Amino acid sequence: MIFAFDKISKKWRFLLLVICTMLLLIIGAAFKLSNSSQVIAQTQATNTQTNAAVYHFKIGKFNAMTVSDGNLKIAPSFFLPNADPAEVENSLYESFLPTNSDYLFYVNVLYIDTGEHKVLIDSGAGTAFGDTAGFLAQNLQAAGIDPKSIDTVLITHAHGDHIGGLISANGNLTYPNAEYYISQAEWDFWTDPQVSLPNSLVDDKTKQSVIQGAQQTLNLIKNKIKFFEFGSEIIPGIIATETSGHTPGHTSYSIASEQNKLIATGDIFYSDPLNLEHPDWEVAFDTDFEQGLATRTNFLNEVSESRVELLVPHMPFPGLGHVSAEADRYAWTPSWWKFDPA
Ligand SMILES: [Zn+2]
Repeated sequence: MIFAFDKISKKWRFLLLVICTMLLLIIGAAFKLSNSSQVIAQTQATNTQTNAAVYHFKIGKFNAMTVSDGNLKIAPSFFLPNADPAEVENSLYESFLPTNSDYLFYVNVLYIDTGEHKVLIDSGAGTAFGDTAGFLAQNLQAAGIDPKSIDTVLITHAHGDHIGGLISANGNLTYPNAEYYISQAEWDFWTDPQVSLPNSLVDDKTKQSVIQGAQQTLNLIKNKIKFFEFGSEIIPGIIATETSGHTPGHTSYSIASEQNKLIATGDIFYSDPLNLEHPDWEVAFDTDFEQGLATRTNFLNEVSESRVELLVPHMPFPGLGHVSAEADRYAWTPSWWKFDPA
């Protein structure tokens, strides 16, 4: 049928024109709205993006990466229950850190490809610490490392933020083809059915959850565990060193290749400025805070003397830097960020 426009009266022509104009206006408004929604969606997507979660570097001929597992937010009063709150606040203020919110603990995990072995030192928190951490496996994959290709996991200690990531959310081993190394002292302490934490400053509920988390995870990897002697070379270039105090079998790992050396410290110290400016403040997470303090002081003196580079799990990403000794405290100098890892 052909539409006979000239047969319509003037009145109806005018009405038709008004209807068409309104329709055009409505379509135009809807199009504009749709574009605005896209802009909002894009902005939201941008806001949920994160910065780089891996940092490539070399230790001699070994290729290494710090891989972020996320972060943990913990109240300073929980972390340092015996420290004067005004002094803690002042220390944070002097370091330009927020004083009215939880302290941010990074979770940096070291990955090393020695050419012969693909090694992880600890595994991040997995599902043990809420939704701000537990991203190690996906960040490894994003960096092109298949979790199945990891053949060696070296454990510093059995706290949940270091071994929680060994088990995935569905209860399977995240690194199924790895051998897991832990000190005999650490293993014996946590797997003892009578284990308790009498010299730790955390509350009883936290103690129970720490013990339960350690026992559950260690039980799931028990068939793949290997022990070592302190001071021995576990794989070529990596030596285990006893640094007990934070936990009874706490271990640090020295990685050396050619003339380069790095120490993966584990939790000998955790925070700048709180631990380094006030090394005598008792840390709640230490299984034995007196032994923890003695180990921390000895270690900080040693590494400030030897000037060795450190990888510290809970320091700002990527956790690489040096410690220097000052009159009555220590200072942290982050390693220079490099574009080229070579
Ligand atoms: Zn930790």
